[in-house]
Amino acid sequence: MGDGKVVTGILIQDKLTEKNKVYEIQGLFIAIGHQPNTDMFKPVILTDELGYIITKPFSTVTNIDGVFCCGDAQDKIFRQAVTAAGAGCMTALEAERYFVANQDRLVSQDTALMPLN
Ligand SMILES: Cc1cc2nc3c(=O)[nH]c(=O)nc-3n(C[C@H](O)[C@H](O)[C@H](O)COP(=O)(O)OP(=O)(O)OC[C@H]3O[C@@H](n4cnc5c(N)ncnc54)[C@H](O)[C@@H]3O)c2cc1C
Repeated sequence: MGDGKVVTGILIQDKLTEKNKVYEIQGLFIAIGHQPNTDMFKPVILTDELGYIITKPFSTVTNIDGVFCCGDAQDKIFRQAVTAAGAGCMTALEAERYFVANQDRLVSQDTALMPLN
């Protein structure tokens, strides 16, 4: 609820009694919840009962060859920026090693990698 400029109140409904109550407030923090946004992957990538993408222990490898996962889509324990970034680094390294190991299969001669220097 608001006056067109700022929030002025909130209407809460008790889930059990379905009774409504209005609280006057001047500020609001919205919790976005803990449900990982992984629905689009569920048809192909294995997730656990809470929707987190399952990876091999101590790895970012998923059940799909060449697909790696890290961060809040995969981590239900820490869910912190620093752990997501660290796991992102693991993912980059594992993806790079995967790419190097499968280079012949993945890269056609037309799109061969050019040296960076
Ligand atoms: C309110 C709040 C406070 C937090 N405070 C802290 C804190 O103080 N310290 C801390 O360490 N961590 C904190 N965290 C946790 C931290 O933000 C996360 O752990 C971290 O951002 C996870 O990184 P991620 O890359 O896995 O996911 P995200 O940062 O969520 O990145 C996912 C990205 O994917 C994009 N995306 C989603 N769906 C699609 C799609 N279909 N197509 C393309 N892109 C898509 C999103 O827009 C987003 O940019 C906080 C989180 C919240 C919500």
